Amino acid sequence: MRHIQRRIALLALPALVGSILVATGPAGADPTGPSAATSRSQPEDRESVRLVQIRLTGADMLDKVVAAGFDLEHGLRRVPTGIEGEAVVTAEQVTELTAMGVEVLADDAGFAWSDQADGGIGVDAAGARAVQPSNHQATVRIARADWFTTKGQGFLYVEARTTEGQQADPIVGMQVENDSGKGTPFGFARTMSRFVDSGQYMFHRNLFKLDTRPTRIQVTSSTGGVTTGVVSNWLENAPPPLTANPSYKSDFVDGYKHPQQLYSRAKEIARQYPDIAEIVYLPNQTNGYQRKAQAQLGGTGQAAVVVTSAAWGHEGGNDITVEFVDRPDANLPLAVEVTGKAVRVLLATDAAGAPASTATQVADALRTRSAGLIDRAHPYRTNEGSGIVAPTAGPVALTDFLDQKRVGAPEGEVPRGPATIPVLRIGKHRDGKKPGVLIQAQDHAREWVPATTSLESAERLVHNYRSDRETKKIVENTDIFFILSNNPDGANYSFYNFASQRKNMTNHCPDASADPGQRNSWGVDLNRNYRVGSGHDGYAGGSTNCVSGTYQGPEELSEPESKNIIWLVEKYSNIKFMMSVHSNGGQLFWQPGAYIADGRITTPRPPLGDEAFYWQSAARILSQVKAHRETVVTPENVGGSSDVLYSSAGNVREDLYYTYGIYAFGWEVGGSVYNPATGDWQGGSFQPEWTGNPELVSGHAETMEYANGIMEMFRVAADWGKDKKDPTSRLIPGDGKYRGPVDVRFETSEPATIYYTTDGSRPTLESPRYAATEFREPGQVFHVTETTTFRWFSVDSAGNIEKNYDPTKKDKRNNYRTATITIAKK
Ligand SMILES: [Zn+2]
Repeated sequence: MRHIQRRIALLALPALVGSILVATGPAGADPTGPSAATSRSQPEDRESVRLVQIRLTGADMLDKVVAAGFDLEHGLRRVPTGIEGEAVVTAEQVTELTAMGVEVLADDAGFAWSDQADGGIGVDAAGARAVQPSNHQATVRIARADWFTTKGQGFLYVEARTTEGQQADPIVGMQVENDSGKGTPFGFARTMSRFVDSGQYMFHRNLFKLDTRPTRIQVTSSTGGVTTGVVSNWLENAPPPLTANPSYKSDFVDGYKHPQQLYSRAKEIARQYPDIAEIVYLPNQTNGYQRKAQAQLGGTGQAAVVVTSAAWGHEGGNDITVEFVDRPDANLPLAVEVTGKAVRVLLATDAAGAPASTATQVADALRTRSAGLIDRAHPYRTNEGSGIVAPTAGPVALTDFLDQKRVGAPEGEVPRGPATIPVLRIGKHRDGKKPGVLIQAQDHAREWVPATTSLESAERLVHNYRSDRETKKIVENTDIFFILSNNPDGANYSFYNFASQRKNMTNHCPDASADPGQRNSWGVDLNRNYRVGSGHDGYAGGSTNCVSGTYQGPEELSEPESKNIIWLVEKYSNIKFMMSVHSNGGQLFWQPGAYIADGRITTPRPPLGDEAFYWQSAARILSQVKAHRETVVTPENVGGSSDVLYSSAGNVREDLYYTYGIYAFGWEVGGSVYNPATGDWQGGSFQPEWTGNPELVSGHAETMEYANGIMEMFRVAADWGKDKKDPTSRLIPGDGKYRGPVDVRFETSEPATIYYTTDGSRPTLESPRYAATEFREPGQVFHVTETTTFRWFSVDSAGNIEKNYDPTKKDKRNNYRTATITIAKK
């Protein structure tokens, strides 16, 4: 079977065919103004309208084109060379776009979009676009209608769109009704919530508590649009989990583990199970659980001096003392005396013998005259340091503050200095031939459950390998890499000093934020430090402020912890799956995970085959989570993270998926669980009590249930590695003669991406991709108005190509698929 590196194509190729564009020409311009002629170039004859795929150089050109009246907001996507999208236009409008510098990439004459042909956008006598489409049937679409139960309670989740959703005045409302089983009438009307993000209408969505499973729903918009849909099951009827085998062993982790415990257990596992486990050391040491020693002296505000040692605290900085000394005589100059590690600043005096040195003068003297003990001294925060410093009561000891243990910190000393992160690699055949899975936990230091969840999964693999058939299959067919804590410095700080630490320990702050009062806010958010869709490239959700919780770092991959991940996936190119494990949102994410806020332009949407594979995998993983104690991660918390949550610029998932073609999940363990006693969902926390209420919030219960999910991810990877079966696909309806326009769509036998042409050319990886109607919706529908031949092939998530077709070279067999829709002329 032929495999291709599918996702190399993702960024390299025009990721073109996407959502349906409402067929508008330039609209809304003043019909009497200079642009009136072009504004009026609305298609009179639908046959002459066509879909073109376009590329804009960037946001500036987009602004220009939109200002000229073209409606391109829908379905735009960011590509390395600019912004790509689609427009439904006449030949005249194509000329207009080209004149504006827009590159027309492909031109699909021959069919038009159903939204348009089914009534579409009316045009009034003056040529301005009518606001109301004439056919309301087409203006409401249901994206999801999912039913699930948890702890004896039923829930219905509905997600639906109106094509008028962006409209602001008046805002279009939506209502959902449901039946109460097959054949029963609709009723129980409820209002839906409008979800708007970064100024863009997303969809309406709600989670409703219901006692009876409905079979159908009906969604109505306030402008009269109405549609019905069938209710699906979410995480119902899952296959038995691994834990269903009575001899299966689990529940190995007995409490939270700090990095030293995690790493020493990882090394012990490698020693105990040398036939299936080993340690791989990551090459870049962390910047260390260490700090410079500091003190703030001389007074407050303008008189305060912030002093920082040249050496790390544990390497001598903590032994330094600084004293500001008052002397009785008049008119003395500022001087510095250094004896061993004792620094004495002899303050200048005025004519009356009073201290006369300003904070700036003292700081300058310390930096230059402390025999190298102090290399950073400056006024406090944004002060100029114009105040006269006060003498100290005696020598003041500098400290790195790391010996100030927080209440409840574990026993023992934490090793200071840089850490080397071990990767626990588990697999019977660690030769690069089995699909690799990277489990990367605790990028964020305060997230303790991800580490225990990952360790529990590793323990289950090695303990069940010999006794459990399903575990043996995992170990023999995958190559698993566990990073049990990817932020050991921050994690130690969270355990021993400041429980809410999120970032690593690297202090990139300028003087204004470098005083010890800011020490709990230093560090880089490791999950904002990557290269794709990063804040440095203008994506939203990463901060340039060094004390922000989402500080992205001074540059992409500035931190050793993120460099290590790139090193690992480049060295072990068999890694095809990745789970970035976080807490405590109760979510499962993939791409897109970042967008440019202005216009809400996301990183490219995964092809439909990847999207379907992500959903299929998510359902498997979450079903096994549910099997433990009925915790349900709801569908509103599953999908592209920027579609359902927010943009996180420079996250690891975007880099691994777009650069290396790795299926990269983001996993928020913990989160809300339904409490039948109160009828409410109860939220989780970063460090829930380990032995908390096992039915509600408990570190132990979360560890066990989410480890179920990680084990299922291994099974997903093992199945993927063994998938040698071609996908099959079909056009519905297929070949045939039709009396009038026909709506057609593709269907595949498994998650697969279709590349197709309608212009007579052979399909290649550069051909348009069959896409979703809109994100989180099923595949688009083509409205075929003229005789059209579709040529296509499909590629499954493992890279198998339908009928073994080779799209990369001329193939005389031409064994792609074809179907001709023949439209009879009247
Ligand atoms: Zn996190």
